[in-house]
Amino acid sequence: MMRLPWFKYHAPKSVAEAARILAAEGTQAMVIAGGTDLLPNMKRRQQTPATLVSLRQVEGLKKLANGTGLTLGAGLTLTEVVNTPAVRDGYRGLWQAAAQVASPHLRNMGTLGGNLCLDTRCLYYNQNEDWRRAIDFCMKRDGEICWVATGSKRCLAVSSTDTAPALISLGAKVKLVSAAGEREVVLADLYKNDGMDYLTRRPDEILTEVALPKLEGWKSTYWKLRRRGSFDFPILGVAAAVRAAADGTVEEARIVLGAVSSRPLVTKAGDLLVGKKLTDDVIAEAGEKCSSAAKPMDNTDLDLYWRRDVVGAFVGYALRELRGDDMRDTRFKIAKQVL
Ligand SMILES: Cc1cc2nc3c(=O)[nH]c(=O)nc-3n(C[C@H](O)[C@H](O)[C@H](O)COP(=O)(O)OP(=O)(O)OC[C@H]3O[C@@H](n4cnc5c(N)ncnc54)[C@H](O)[C@@H]3O)c2cc1C
Ligand code: SF4
Repeated sequence: MMRLPWFKYHAPKSVAEAARILAAEGTQAMVIAGGTDLLPNMKRRQQTPATLVSLRQVEGLKKLANGTGLTLGAGLTLTEVVNTPAVRDGYRGLWQAAAQVASPHLRNMGTLGGNLCLDTRCLYYNQNEDWRRAIDFCMKRDGEICWVATGSKRCLAVSSTDTAPALISLGAKVKLVSAAGEREVVLADLYKNDGMDYLTRRPDEILTEVALPKLEGWKSTYWKLRRRGSFDFPILGVAAAVRAAADGTVEEARIVLGAVSSRPLVTKAGDLLVGKKLTDDVIAEAGEKCSSAAKPMDNTDLDLYWRRDVVGAFVGYALRELRGDDMRDTRFKIAKQVL
């Protein structure tokens, strides 16, 4: 049985109190929300904070406000996000992404903030300590080399959050609060293409809320590839959001890929849709653009080349759904792995 290492535990009741504790404890402290990512990582000694600052009792992180846009507290569980009618009806891509994270039990515990700050993943890293010691560890933790690309100076571990690509395609911003003040960041800018140092968030900052603009006339969707249809991390996520005129001409579009690099990949494929209708040819062109932008590495599940090949197909499913095709059968077949 894998046991947790010893740690000091704080359970503040407000964001201000949590921020003060983080400022005092320094970089050896980490925030914990649902713990569904952090606790397994601690058991495997991938992350060993001396102090945990729990956000579970911070009611201020449960905010839910629907006005000129939608504000979601970072402490909302993914189940709460999925059960919010404003998300289901107005931000479909986020709803689909959150509903496909892990399993119902994990969504009951796991939070939106934790999902956005999720550690990057790699086959050589998400292993127990003995396994990692047997390969002399790797540079993300305790070692010096990257086993995925031995010449690489940068860790290539994969961004595996489902909600981030969806939220980025919807134009989300996040609020970061520390004892020194607060700042708002466009969600895409929260991420860096570095598997070790993957967030621009400072260790003393708490992600408190996600703000979504009002999206009149937009449609959005999220398509996920994973080994097990019941629950699994993404090995590809496609988030697409489109605003089209009454005749179907695209006026604005964003396509963001998940699980193909160390951060959600904002593609340029959305731009080439603008001014066009979503015909089969235009959709195929967007798929090819995304396929060539995606550079998945051989450090996650299933064959690398096959994963790159299906990017175009998944972008196609997403865009066909947004133009109004009935894609329920395709979704069902992907979930049941018969496609
Ligand atoms: C078997 C299994 C399957 C999973 N499948 C998926 C999947 O399909 N898709 C997916 O996206 N995830 C998956 N996960 C990962 C995880 O369950 C979810 O990402 C979950 O949303 C994490 O939220 P949490 O609140 O539990 O985060 P925690 O584990 O509490 O924290 C995760 C990280 O975020 C930081 N953090 C948490 N909250 C904040 C905050 N408010 N401000 C700043 N930093 C914060 C923590 O310090 C930590 O680094 C899976 C996990 C397991 C165990
Ligand atoms: S990408 Fe390389 S350095 Fe990063 S976790 Fe994997 S093996 Fe380690």
